[in-house]
Amino acid sequence: MDIKKDPMGRAIADYHRTGKAGRLRVFSPMFEEDEIPVQTLFRNYQEMPETEQKALGMVNGKTLDVGAGSGCHSLVLQQRGVDVTAVDISPLSVETMRKRGVKNVLEQDFFALDEPYDTILMLMNGIGIVGTLERMPDFFRHLDRILAPGGQLLCDSSDISYVFEDEDGNIEYPEDMAYYGELNYTMQYKNIMGAAFDWLYVDADTLARIAAENGYIVEVIAEGEHYDYLARITKNIENN
Ligand code: SAH
Repeated sequence: MDIKKDPMGRAIADYHRTGKAGRLRVFSPMFEEDEIPVQTLFRNYQEMPETEQKALGMVNGKTLDVGAGSGCHSLVLQQRGVDVTAVDISPLSVETMRKRGVKNVLEQDFFALDEPYDTILMLMNGIGIVGTLERMPDFFRHLDRILAPGGQLLCDSSDISYVFEDEDGNIEYPEDMAYYGELNYTMQYKNIMGAAFDWLYVDADTLARIAAENGYIVEVIAEGEHYDYLARITKNIENN
């Protein structure tokens, strides 16, 4: 990724260097402009939501932290003696993680990795990088390659159907919408605009259905506080 098009990475680098950052703005055609508070990307263990704390406690073996950002989860795991590798496509985030002491950091696209891991972590809706439901089968074929035998993927996601709920609790989706969790975002930090990207919020039932079609099992481990959940995905060995 071009550092001139890396708003989140720049925000992370600024925050690391100076202890503060400007506004990391998020635009989506369907929503009002929003903001990601940059300091939350630097949360420590106590500041993490329970679903994330729970996920960190379930990690075992060689672990991959996907879209690791500032490295907040990798740092906790590293301190616990876990063999963890952080991967991120953002060069500025990767540089910051190295400065913060994350030992194993890869500047790469998750979909280009080919080494097996026992645990793959995708936190803060990390499974969102799949982008669309249509890309899910490719994602599971990739897991076939990089999930070690007996391995697990731990991810959290949100069911954003509540966004479409009216006062009476009826849910109505826009007619031209394929799946309500498929969004398109652009981010901006200072004068740095990122490229638009697809981001997926997948509800637990849809995730379980597509996983089953692709030879995987989804267990919902915990429910979060805001329509979110933590899931554990493993290969369905009875299928093979
Ligand atoms: N997991 C971190 C950061 C979440 S933000 C946390 O919980 O705080 C999502 C991160 O995913 C960003 O740092 C972004 O650069 C990274 N990312 C997006 N697409 C990616 C891909 N295809 N491969 C690797 N990292 C990716």
